[in-house]
Amino acid sequence: MARYTDAVCRLCRREGMKLFLKGAKCFSDKCPIEKRNFAPGQHGKDRKAKIVGYGLQLREKQKAKRIYFTQEGQFRNYFEKAARTRGVTGEMLLQQLERRLDNVVYRLGFGVSRRQARQLVRHGHVAVNGRKVNIPSFQVSVGDEIVIRERSRQLQVLELAKEFSSHQNAPTWLEIDRENSKGRVLALPKREDIQLPVNEQLIVELYSK
Ligand code: SF4
Repeated sequence: MARYTDAVCRLCRREGMKLFLKGAKCFSDKCPIEKRNFAPGQHGKDRKAKIVGYGLQLREKQKAKRIYFTQEGQFRNYFEKAARTRGVTGEMLLQQLERRLDNVVYRLGFGVSRRQARQLVRHGHVAVNGRKVNIPSFQVSVGDEIVIRERSRQLQVLELAKEFSSHQNAPTWLEIDRENSKGRVLALPKREDIQLPVNEQLIVELYSK
């Protein structure tokens, strides 16, 4: 699968807003958006045209895709599944993205960014209901217990992440036990639980053409 390997800050600059992809740096004055809030590339500064219609829908989709680090095909699959699910399609789409295991590990505060949380999952540091799961896109369900495995609890990145996230509010749909590096899914996330600068309705319009 193709993987984005360029500097992730370029993605924020392309969207013209902070997507919080790098943890602590995003909250510091080293964040490039603070100094260079224009699109990357040679002509980035010149792109001033107002985006409307299709362009706007495309940007919303790209933004959501980039926040959750998903590929185009996978993102479309989420949409198609959301369209088949009972409920508001846009909300169902965001709910599936939010239920990804790498996102949940991030929301629980075990990674400073979704990328770092994804690494933790990929490298086998996370267990769900007592079994190791190394698939970042794994969908959690209500009642699932997510744990950093015993042998991984001394990782320095984990300690730093817990310290970093201790100042942030926990999502209401998750129960967090930072002391024991574990959490539980109390409910599926609703739209109001997902604090994202994304207009999901525009994504639905884009894919419904
Ligand atoms: Fe985006 Fe964070 Fe980079 Fe700032 S530091 S541009 S918010 S990834």
